[in-house]
Amino acid sequence: MRNAPHVMVPRDALSKIASSLERSGDLAFRHVPSDDLFVVSVVETAPSVRQQVDIPRQYSALRSGDALFHGKWVRTPGGLANLTHLQLLQRPGTMLPHEDATSLFGVSINPGAQISLVLTHDSALPEELRKAGVQEFAGWAVTREGAFPYPTSLEPEILGLSQLSGLWPLAETASLSIAVVGCGSIGSVAADALAGYGVGALHLIDNDRLLWHNLIRHRLGPESVGRFKSAALADAIQERWTNDNVVSHPIDVVRSADVFRSVIREVNLVLCAADGIAPRRVVSHAARRAGVPAVLACVLDQGAIGEIVRLRPSPRFGCLLCLRAQLAGEGAMDAEADQELAYGTGEVHQPMTASPGDLQAVGIFAAKAAIATHLESRYGDSSQLLPGEHAVLGLRPQRDLVPPFNLEHAGEVRWSSIPPPREGCPTCNP
Ligand SMILES: [Zn+2]
Repeated sequence: MRNAPHVMVPRDALSKIASSLERSGDLAFRHVPSDDLFVVSVVETAPSVRQQVDIPRQYSALRSGDALFHGKWVRTPGGLANLTHLQLLQRPGTMLPHEDATSLFGVSINPGAQISLVLTHDSALPEELRKAGVQEFAGWAVTREGAFPYPTSLEPEILGLSQLSGLWPLAETASLSIAVVGCGSIGSVAADALAGYGVGALHLIDNDRLLWHNLIRHRLGPESVGRFKSAALADAIQERWTNDNVVSHPIDVVRSADVFRSVIREVNLVLCAADGIAPRRVVSHAARRAGVPAVLACVLDQGAIGEIVRLRPSPRFGCLLCLRAQLAGEGAMDAEADQELAYGTGEVHQPMTASPGDLQAVGIFAAKAAIATHLESRYGDSSQLLPGEHAVLGLRPQRDLVPPFNLEHAGEVRWSSIPPPREGCPTCNP
């Protein structure tokens, strides 16, 4: 069966109709043939006063098409017209005979040789009808045969994250500030996910530029090639999430450790997705000294497994080097050395081996661990309690590693704790 055409009604058209003192008026639509879409583009608000509808620039698909289709809006108080619309939508193929449509709309619509598109407006819908799914505006196609319901989408008053109000702790996440160190394939996905959780402020730290070979694994696209990853990502997140509080720091945390330490004092948590021993050690050390939790994310063993380490500044848990010392004592892989030597930079001599999807999975997982850490520790949200401090994720596990890295299956997640601070650890015992 062919998909039904669709009517899109921008907010501005809704308010022009709602504030008109008339009982009915003309409408003009744009028609986008490729998507079989009608968009209300002109509203007659008073006799012979036709006002252009403001279609926001970002809805570019709604701004194209041919501005030639004509129709009508009609005020139909009482809810009956729009209830009938909903009922007919639920019975595809059904139609309202002309005489019924005329009595429902209160006016006779003469379609002539062409289809007429009609929007019925009910400003005072009874509450029980709203609850039943009846909308304030309903779209109809009136032909010589009768009136058919058109699926109609109204631009909502509330858009963006505030739609999650009451479903997700937006106030708590809005007050949160997170630094993301490393804006590569994992970090770019993690930063975007954090913005999606409603994190109020993000500090993006990376002095690399987005190069052609990064494109396959990065959240950013070709438009950002050549730019600093941190700056381009900040722009993309601001645009997508309308968050004005995303700051780019195109610095190296090792060479500019003093700048990094000043950033870390501003934030509640650090998420580190940087490759290599040095930046991860700097994050572990600086976060501990600042009393700020850190979540470290990487892939190991040529992209076979993902690793998330949560470092909480507490006498119960040591730092990154305390964890590594314990794992070395147990004969496990030296994850830091694996990062530094084996895992690729994307250069030809050392290709990255992890697939884009696996890196995204690790990035999303790291963002979840970060947000859960904050909500549980600061707000006591028990639904956000993590099972441990160290997680290993199966991506393409080879089953040949020493515990805890010896995963059996893709998708497997193994959580464990991390040891208390080593005696004399310079990070944990200043
Ligand atoms: Zn330590």
